[in-house]
Amino acid sequence: MPNNPRCPASRSAAAERVPIPARLAHSPVSAGLVVPYITLAHRDRTRPIWGRIDAQRLGEVLDNKRCQVCGEPLDATLVLMIRPSDYVRGVAVEPGLHPECALYSRRACVMLAGHVDRYNPSGGSPLNRCGDPLCRCRFWASVEDNDATPSREGKPAEAWYEAWIKLEDYRIFTVPADESGPAATGIALRRVPLLRLRKVRDPAPDGANTEWMDMLAKIVAARRLWNTLVVDEHPDINS
Ligand SMILES: [Zn+2]
Ligand SMILES: [Zn+2]
Repeated sequence: MPNNPRCPASRSAAAERVPIPARLAHSPVSAGLVVPYITLAHRDRTRPIWGRIDAQRLGEVLDNKRCQVCGEPLDATLVLMIRPSDYVRGVAVEPGLHPECALYSRRACVMLAGHVDRYNPSGGSPLNRCGDPLCRCRFWASVEDNDATPSREGKPAEAWYEAWIKLEDYRIFTVPADESGPAATGIALRRVPLLRLRKVRDPAPDGANTEWMDMLAKIVAARRLWNTLVVDEHPDINS
């Protein structure tokens, strides 16, 4: 069962009572936080295993162009949460989000909100069983034993960015294993125009993700410069 690459345990953010947008009004809630569609949970989805991903749901939303938080089809413009390393490898490993679901994630996820500098060292909540005979939790242990996904547990946080792309540019891509990591499947980033690119959080101060490695920071800076030049040349462009 893969660990969520970013949200280790969102519970501590619950105290802040992040407002839930209308699109997520019918989503399951646990401790005041929306339980994302791809989060592993018991059949009663108000009982999530924070920090764990449901591999089946992950594949389902990626293949069907749906949102990782609400599980509904994505709009004509979608948001991808990416790290500089994802951009370099050319694949966004997290499924897309609706803009309002992305905004909610930025506030509710302790990793994206910058409240923590380290991925959860314990790798998420324990896989407790429930008493529901129809719940698939009784199979969780065997999946866990076969887990080949390398863990991010305890590692320093990387910088995160949000990139907006058009749905018509959405395609699934698998990058083979290389020196930067194992094979990964997600949404292709290469040669895809980014409608918008902005930083969501800085890397942990002790992380390996130093500024010179942060390709996305350079792109953000170049785009800002480019926009300034274009506006200077054509003052009416943004009016
Ligand atoms: Zn959504
Ligand atoms: Zn269960």
